[in-house]
Amino acid sequence: MIALAALAGGAVLLVYNARPVRRAARLTPLPDLKIDTARAAENLSRYVQLDTSAPPGISPEAAVKHIQLLTEQYARPLGLEIEVIGGLMLLLRWRTGSRRPPVMFTGHADVVPVAEDERPRWTHPPFSGAIDQGFVWGRGTLDNKGSTICILEAMASLQAAGLKPDRDVFLWVTHDEEVGGVEGAKVFVRDHLEKLDGASMVIDEGGYAINDFVRGAVFAAVAVGEKHALTVRARVETPPGHASMPTAGDAPAVLTAALARLMAAPSPPRLLAPLRVLLDRLAEPMSWGRRLVLRNRWLFGGLILRMLSRLAASSAMIRDTVALTFLRAGHKVNIIPAQAEATLHMRLLPGTSTEEMLGRLRAAMAEPRVKLEVLSESGDTPIAPTRGEDWERLDAALAVGLPGAVVAPIITPGTDDGRYFARAGLAVYRYIPFTLDAVERRRIHGEDERVSLANLQQAIVAYAHLLRYL
Ligand SMILES: [Zn+2]
Repeated sequence: MIALAALAGGAVLLVYNARPVRRAARLTPLPDLKIDTARAAENLSRYVQLDTSAPPGISPEAAVKHIQLLTEQYARPLGLEIEVIGGLMLLLRWRTGSRRPPVMFTGHADVVPVAEDERPRWTHPPFSGAIDQGFVWGRGTLDNKGSTICILEAMASLQAAGLKPDRDVFLWVTHDEEVGGVEGAKVFVRDHLEKLDGASMVIDEGGYAINDFVRGAVFAAVAVGEKHALTVRARVETPPGHASMPTAGDAPAVLTAALARLMAAPSPPRLLAPLRVLLDRLAEPMSWGRRLVLRNRWLFGGLILRMLSRLAASSAMIRDTVALTFLRAGHKVNIIPAQAEATLHMRLLPGTSTEEMLGRLRAAMAEPRVKLEVLSESGDTPIAPTRGEDWERLDAALAVGLPGAVVAPIITPGTDDGRYFARAGLAVYRYIPFTLDAVERRRIHGEDERVSLANLQQAIVAYAHLLRYL
């Protein structure tokens, strides 16, 4: 009888969890927003024409020009407070008189370089800023000059509509994000954080609206956390031998056997809290049957983890990954080398420590002759909340600013300047409202980087709603 009742209870829970969850539309779209996409494209084109590649890094002359561009085109006419820090970083503030903690948007003026041999393959030269076929072309259009221009344009359209944010807004534009933020974000957080007047929230780069994840749906993929990198050298040393008499104890043999055991044993999957929210949100536009599976993780957890493990991208979201990036041994065809070494590059989920990962490597390799040495570690970064006021406002503002999109928190495998702010206790949400498919995303740091005018328009509208409603 008890078993029967439990069964009935389980069935009710299954069906209950599969029902569509419709959140009430709490916000209204901003009426009468005038969006000047042509001006945005022109200014972005001028911004792209400043070659700010890093490395080598922004020259003082280029820094003066980019600060001039942003302040003369936007900050001054909009009446923003302007502060230049160290000649390179720009901090703009829209003062509103609100007592709520401010929010900070970020941008970076530096871009990754374009190799000489890559340039002929570009449709338009990478620093041309050509406006052609409905796109602005060039390095930095997506990463990350485009969003800076769109944030400023969104401020302009709010002001033109007689609207203002509900809290002070900062826009911080740095100069060395692509080379680790050591002189930019790190210094800013160390020496200038008090300038933000107790800001609680950061809107950074790192996630996009993507339309090729689930068919027919656009997901506003907001990265609420990031994986952290750990690089380890694994080395075996043995006496050298002659290649005519090999043994299983030779350094290359010992190392490769241990590596084979390691590669055959992926880290156990772990569903972090934001990913549970992601699954709930992913389920929304799906059929009843799929919702039933995705929402009933108490029953289908194993199946869901197997599904997520199938693709490299989703597998990386639920486990610590290990990539074998260097293998070195040997110097002569008939000598067994005395040393063999491998470099393992790992991306760890938030919460996995270096010690824990080293322990797992040792256990999987099961070979005491393999010596491990940590070459570098980027360190863990806290995850931004997916509940509470800041998240709820972001969620609601995106729902109305990017109509039809499903807001979904993700953990990004990449890192950016946001980590410095997250470690200082701010809630960092990494998101740029351009809708990009895999082909367009590959242009970031790749060839023919470009942004469509439609995306500029969409991002200005979305940022206007974020600015107004956050
Ligand atoms: Zn970037």
